[in-house]
Amino acid sequence: MTDQTKYVYDLNEGDASLKSLLGGKGANLAEMNRIGVPVPDAFTVTTQACVAAMNNNGEWPAGLREQVEAALDRLEERTGKVLGSTENPLLVSIRSGAVFSMPGMMDTVLNLGISDDTVGAVAALADGNERFAWDCYRRFIQMYGEVVEGVDQYVFEDALTEAKEAKGVANDTDLDAEDLKALTKKFKELANEALGGHWTTDPREQLMRAINAVFLSWNNPRAEVYRKANGISRDLGTAVNVQQMVFGNRGETSATGVCFSRNPSTGAKELYGEFLTNAQGEDVVAGIRTPRNLAEMEDVLPEAFHELLATMDKLELHNKDLQDMEFTIEDRKLYMLQTRNGKRTAAAAVKSAVDMVDEGLITKEEALLRINPSDLDALLHPAIDPNFKATAIVKGLPASPGAAVGALSFNADDAAERGGKGESVILVRYETTPDDIHGVMVSQGVLTAHGGMTSHAAVVARGMGITCVAGAPGIKIDPKGETVTIGDKTYGTGDTLTLNGTTGEVFEGAAPLVPPSINEDFEQVGAWADEYRRLGVRANAENFEDASKARELGAEGIGLARTEHMFMAADRLPSVRKMILATNEEERAAALEEILPLQQADFEEIFSAMKGLPVTVRLLDPPLHEFLPNIVDQSLLVQKLELTGGSEEDLAKERKLLAQVKSLHEQNPMLGTRGCRLAMLYPSIPEMQARAIIRAALAVQEREGETAGIEIMVPLVVIKKELEVQRDIVVKAVEDEFEKAGKRVDYTVGTMIEIPRAALTANEIAEAADFFSFGTNDLTQTGIGISRDDAEAGFLGHYVDAEVMSKNPFESLDQNGVGQLVEMGVEKGRTTKPGLKTGVCGEHGGDPESVEFFHRAGLDYVSCSPFRVPIARLAAARAALREQ
Ligand code: PEP
Ligand code: MG
Repeated sequence: MTDQTKYVYDLNEGDASLKSLLGGKGANLAEMNRIGVPVPDAFTVTTQACVAAMNNNGEWPAGLREQVEAALDRLEERTGKVLGSTENPLLVSIRSGAVFSMPGMMDTVLNLGISDDTVGAVAALADGNERFAWDCYRRFIQMYGEVVEGVDQYVFEDALTEAKEAKGVANDTDLDAEDLKALTKKFKELANEALGGHWTTDPREQLMRAINAVFLSWNNPRAEVYRKANGISRDLGTAVNVQQMVFGNRGETSATGVCFSRNPSTGAKELYGEFLTNAQGEDVVAGIRTPRNLAEMEDVLPEAFHELLATMDKLELHNKDLQDMEFTIEDRKLYMLQTRNGKRTAAAAVKSAVDMVDEGLITKEEALLRINPSDLDALLHPAIDPNFKATAIVKGLPASPGAAVGALSFNADDAAERGGKGESVILVRYETTPDDIHGVMVSQGVLTAHGGMTSHAAVVARGMGITCVAGAPGIKIDPKGETVTIGDKTYGTGDTLTLNGTTGEVFEGAAPLVPPSINEDFEQVGAWADEYRRLGVRANAENFEDASKARELGAEGIGLARTEHMFMAADRLPSVRKMILATNEEERAAALEEILPLQQADFEEIFSAMKGLPVTVRLLDPPLHEFLPNIVDQSLLVQKLELTGGSEEDLAKERKLLAQVKSLHEQNPMLGTRGCRLAMLYPSIPEMQARAIIRAALAVQEREGETAGIEIMVPLVVIKKELEVQRDIVVKAVEDEFEKAGKRVDYTVGTMIEIPRAALTANEIAEAADFFSFGTNDLTQTGIGISRDDAEAGFLGHYVDAEVMSKNPFESLDQNGVGQLVEMGVEKGRTTKPGLKTGVCGEHGGDPESVEFFHRAGLDYVSCSPFRVPIARLAAARAALREQ
């Protein structure tokens, strides 16, 4: 049975809509040809052919070879040239072309068709340019040998170096036709030798082998790494483009180059590109000669230059997006080899999208759908200069975005002191605890060896817009806390490192940074997003600065004020510890008495910053271990070992054991006396908080004529009864305050849904709740059964690398699993109370994909850290637009 599948498309058979079959490059070439842009003639072997071969141990599907033969015949007919002809030889390039661009990851062969038989005709057709012909030939053997036949690169490089040394010259361009002829001969001998005499000289056979090599390159290691990093499926395969060669290296009337329809770094509509005369594309890439600014081409090749400008406009207009193009000029004639939507910086993405709306090229909706919400992060924080190239010394979790350069500090007091004097400091800790907050606050960045995306260090840093790389694998902080060893290098106090909190990378020394750029275009995108989104956007914040920042960035309220964060300040910790460790109610009451006015002052600040907008204050949710001294302190343990009086040898052994024990130690997974559980044991705590909230609200109302909308939230409820009890305590205290003051404000009492049981019984819990707020951090922790403080440093990283899980569920909501709990909670809650207000305040509230999910799940709002508010606004608008 013959296979009827069409595996090969001529250039004029394709168009942009066939991208999944023809790959990005093939579809674009066909589309350019269709709209009258000059492209060299070609045919494309489909991704489907590659996949079929891949699924059959590399064996080509029946009929593919014949289809390639026939397409080649047609190409020869159209061009009037013949592969292997001694008079009018066709030369072709063979290039990969995946559906999603994977620049430089797969293989390419150029100049196929040149041989002993055809090299003379190639020279003759190039006005007798012998040097050009032999240069093409030796390049072909090198490239074909390496890429298709697997000959080691050094075999050719050594011969080339020898040839230059023999002649006493430094550059390839100093070799003349005779040198290149001799070199070609040498290359052929070497290739044939390397292949044990099996070098193929038949150009048709070479073509088949080259196509096959491109198929195979789909699975080479660098392509695999790239696919994994960019979430591209292995099942897609690559297309292969076979295209007539055009030559930019045929003399000074020929050239090659790259250009963009707008500046990809700023987005400005201006000439941007580079070119080289008498060169082939690889010369530009290899950096052997320095390319010239495109503007200079007007003097050298004026006609081609003006045609190029017109073509750039045409392609941008047609594709309605910033284009990244490659061109070649062969003897003054322009050919476009490629166009694609250009990669651009975040700033360029925003500016070009806004400009294109102004120019009438695209609509507002298209502009919103074009800007990747996560890219906005880069504009809100300093970022590492995109031109900076260096290898990271370690890569941890991208816990809080932005970039930071600073001198290392190993304890919070030192960081606070140096940071307070204006020094740029990077605080390095095994993990951070509340005791460190004063150091974190004044640092440029925080680096921890332990902890995850929702760990304390990450949440606090994100809230304050401080760069954080958490859980950096394998970094060792010495027991005295004065040095950190990363790889085989040790860094001490005052040494400089750079953190990239957007990628998790850490670099040695000071990388150049670019400042944040919140400008008019940025504001415009936000304003457009607000026109389209249905989902409300609030912020998680618990002090005046963060709340004000959030409001400035467009937050419509506070969705979560974590009162325990207010307890973490160094001057309050003693009272908080007293409150927790109190052995009787009297002691506790005394501690609470100290705390109440402090809490009230905190609340006044927030209510004042958010006047007229809702503020959800969560009653104390204490991860107890965060408030208590660490009893497993390593130095104590070592001291104890020392007291046993063992030999030095024993001591060293046990110290090592201790280090291992520590590296395996897991934090309390925070399932103990957390959330309302402490408040159930000690009702005086929520009572104090409710009083502080109401006193603050009344005070702000009195002082400023307006206060925030008060929403009091009970954390970690799993049983309706808990909420009823807590609600009672709150309402009694609140009403008592109203009575004493002789004034009232509006308030509601709701709960977090952050434990599966609460989602499962949301219909019951809703009876006692005015609103729900989903705590997706804990819902992820408990729904999946993984510790938010430990899992990311441990197996979870492996799970993501090995694609057992597609994403870190603490970063982007596990929609299939935990997402069901959210959907169920909303649905069940609303069966009891149809209009029940629901929101999300876990870290997922600032993750674009999760935000889209929350939109679909019918929530009323998301709440995220202040700096993610613009991202959430855009993501929410995109969700609404996609739904239309
Ligand atoms: C949550 O669990 O999602 C939440 C917002 O609460 P926290 O992170 O403070 O536990
Ligand atoms: Mg929680």
